[in-house]
Amino acid sequence: MINIQLNERQLKIIDIVKEEEPITSENIATKLNVTRATLRSDLAILTMTGILDARPKVGYFYSGEGDIFAINNNVKDIKVSDIMSVPVLTKQNESTYDVIVNMFLSDVGSVVIIDNDEYLCGVASRKDLLKATLGGTDINKMPIGMIMTRTPNIITLFEDDDVITAANKIIKHEIDSLPVVTFEHGDESKMKVIGRISKTNITRLFVEVFEN
Ligand code: ADP
Repeated sequence: MINIQLNERQLKIIDIVKEEEPITSENIATKLNVTRATLRSDLAILTMTGILDARPKVGYFYSGEGDIFAINNNVKDIKVSDIMSVPVLTKQNESTYDVIVNMFLSDVGSVVIIDNDEYLCGVASRKDLLKATLGGTDINKMPIGMIMTRTPNIITLFEDDDVITAANKIIKHEIDSLPVVTFEHGDESKMKVIGRISKTNITRLFVEVFEN
């Protein structure tokens, strides 16, 4: 059973293919009076969901009601490394004031803190910074290392994790972002930060999957 909302043009394409199969994308485009480029995403959705079958050099066939799980399976193949962003890193002895400025300049909601050997040692988010200012601390003097959430309590990801794992961790731990790490020389206490996954990365992927 198909349970996605197809748009009007996609429904028209299905009708055309049902009647004229096999039919090439050029011929579908001519019938709809649009360019082939316009049809590309519609045809991708219709083949991904299994409604249409594409055979090279022959054209499109109608193959049934389709299956939304085809799309789900595709999403399962997407890895953290495919969608991660560049992390914003800060040293633990940096002042809380400087971290606040850095967060504004980098347009992020949290920063990853590294120690003197550049291994992950913590995360500081907007709430941590607000808490520090509420307490009346002198944020010019307070090192970020004193107010951050620190390892081993940091939730991390590996670049080979799938995006569902990332989304689940964000929901389960009620956090906005996760550092992506590798263990240097296989040593779990030496985490190098190579990326960052935030709610924005996941939301952007969601939009792309549905638009394509
Ligand atoms: P905000 O402060 O904007 O609500 P979060 O929800 O991400 O942002 O952060 C809430 C709390 O969780 C903060 O104390 C922060 O330090 C902590 N935190 C943020 N990211 C992580 C993470 N990956 N692992 C562990 N704790 C985190």
